[in-house]
Amino acid sequence: MNTTTQETRIAVVTGGSRGLGRNAALAIANKGIDVILTYRSRKDEADTVVAEIAALGRRAVALPLDVSRSAGFTDFAVQVKGILASQWQREHFDYLLNNAGTGVHAGIAETTEAQFDEMVNIHLKGVFFLTQKLLPLIADGGRIVNVSSGLARFALPGYAAYAAMKGGIEVLTRYMAKELGARGIAVNVVAPGAIETDFGGGAVRDNAQLNAFVASQTALGRVGVPDDIGGVIASLFTPDLRWVNAQRIEASGGMFL
Ligand code: NDP
Repeated sequence: MNTTTQETRIAVVTGGSRGLGRNAALAIANKGIDVILTYRSRKDEADTVVAEIAALGRRAVALPLDVSRSAGFTDFAVQVKGILASQWQREHFDYLLNNAGTGVHAGIAETTEAQFDEMVNIHLKGVFFLTQKLLPLIADGGRIVNVSSGLARFALPGYAAYAAMKGGIEVLTRYMAKELGARGIAVNVVAPGAIETDFGGGAVRDNAQLNAFVASQTALGRVGVPDDIGGVIASLFTPDLRWVNAQRIEASGGMFL
């Protein structure tokens, strides 16, 4: 099943141990693509995803990565290069999903510089420089998907610092697409609405009042689940969507229309 040929496509998924990254990693594997996924602290969860992908007949490897620490990105790229050579006899991978991250919930008046810097480091600086370090390892003709948020389009009190970074990611996506087009690399950004994951302490999933509020503001009448997102991301790595480039694709069930 795990044949290693030149045709094998490989995706790197950051934050693949839980939530949307996990769901996307499985959806990507279901499209016949092998996966290198990363985790920050939950190695056990990452190993479970690796086993689930293996059960689908694809090869997967989990590596530790803190996307808030750009000083570690050169070492990470070296690790990926080594894994590509040892596991796939390849020098390149094909697809990059910049997904990993956490949020901060604080009003503008209360947000600390430390919270703001954390958001910059994870969502903006991390995506910028991780992609930069991995560029030599991405095959020409590959694809990149960044993850934004519905909160970059509509405003909810308490998400200013987080959403400002996601807005930055949407601009960065267009610049990546412009510069990397010469290598045949398409770059898009997926903006999920509120999805039931561990994100934000699992508030959207576990706080019944918040859950009902989000559902009431969503045209399709419910809160999103990870299965609503992984397939959208995985589709962007398939030939069907090869001409889609530099686009913001919101997957929110129609929030705040
Ligand atoms: P989860 O909390 O469920 O999962 C977060 C994932 O990111 C985990 O794999 C975690 O690793 C990893 N991670 C967290 N911080 C870091 C870090 N500093 N460095 C490396 N990895 C890290 O969150 P979601 O799956 O919900 O969120 C994924 C992405 O989707 C984020 O970018 C988020 O902003 C975005 N998003 C989420 C929405 C939602 O409603 N859930 C809505 C819109 C966007 P580990 O398991 O090891 O801790």
